[in-house]
Amino acid sequence: MTRPPTRTRSLLALLAAALLPACSASVSGPVDGARALAHVQRMVEFGPRPPGSAAIEQTRQWMEAEIRKLGLEPRRMAFRAPGEPQIGEFVNLWTEIPGQDPANGPILALAAHYCSKLTEGHANPAHNFRFVGAIDGAGASCVLLELARHLKERKTAPNVWLIWFDGEESLEFEWNDKRALFGSRHFAAAMQADKQRFPKGLAQRMKAFVLLDLIGDKDLKIDRDLWSNGDLQKVFLEAAKRMGEERRMFAWESKITDDHIPFQKLGVPVINLIDFFWRDPNSRKDPAQVPASVRDLQAWWHTPEDTVDKMSAASLALAGNLVWTALPGIEARFFPAAAR
Ligand SMILES: [Zn+2]
Repeated sequence: MTRPPTRTRSLLALLAAALLPACSASVSGPVDGARALAHVQRMVEFGPRPPGSAAIEQTRQWMEAEIRKLGLEPRRMAFRAPGEPQIGEFVNLWTEIPGQDPANGPILALAAHYCSKLTEGHANPAHNFRFVGAIDGAGASCVLLELARHLKERKTAPNVWLIWFDGEESLEFEWNDKRALFGSRHFAAAMQADKQRFPKGLAQRMKAFVLLDLIGDKDLKIDRDLWSNGDLQKVFLEAAKRMGEERRMFAWESKITDDHIPFQKLGVPVINLIDFFWRDPNSRKDPAQVPASVRDLQAWWHTPEDTVDKMSAASLALAGNLVWTALPGIEARFFPAAAR
């Protein structure tokens, strides 16, 4: 992620005087945060993994092996982007957890980006540094791996597609719409054009799309993205309430450009679960403008500080179990025929 949004505060943020506590270890749900954090550690050991790099290919092979260990079949969607010959191939990874009707039934998509931002070769020396994207890419990717472990045991009706996008970040250091979201734009367009899978278009079968991004900070919060579907937001807020974690939800809001947009444009109900506000160091240049409630939040976004030591197993578990807890609500609202 993504373009810095305009900063806005919701009423909830104005009321939230207390500091956000670190995520606790006792988070309800099956997702094991320690295992997810170990995945993140492994992933960043491959080094910076911008599109087309040797490191991202090594990362992919490791992810494919992890997906196979779960008894699932990893798939690759490789493609080239016009105007970006220097990259060679971008490669999305995905896997299907079949429901009652894999060929024609409804699909719930859970997605993240696994690439890391290109931080070398830029004209401005300040934009060149070692960047492993522990939170910005690896965190959400590894939460999806751990969710897969439990989703495949769930005897429920919708097909679940887990998708890991390549090429999310802008290839230029500052955001450029035309040189970003390569993987998600290609995936959505390829599926929309696939008349065998989607004879009536992608949205006719893909009933909900959940994106996780910037996941894993010790003091996890989820911002409200104004491109996201209001009913999906309600379902996730309800899930957070059931977990006793509603104070982490939706205090900050804006329209956020990210991998959910190509799906939203095709009419799929989408939500982006993202922890972006106040993580950009530029948002803190004037300390007087930083509210007390977020003063202690770490600002690692697109800096060399985006590393594993800023994360916790508890916050990864919280994110995964938030999705897990929201599943019955998502199914009841968006998959009525398939709800248990
Ligand atoms: Zn990013």
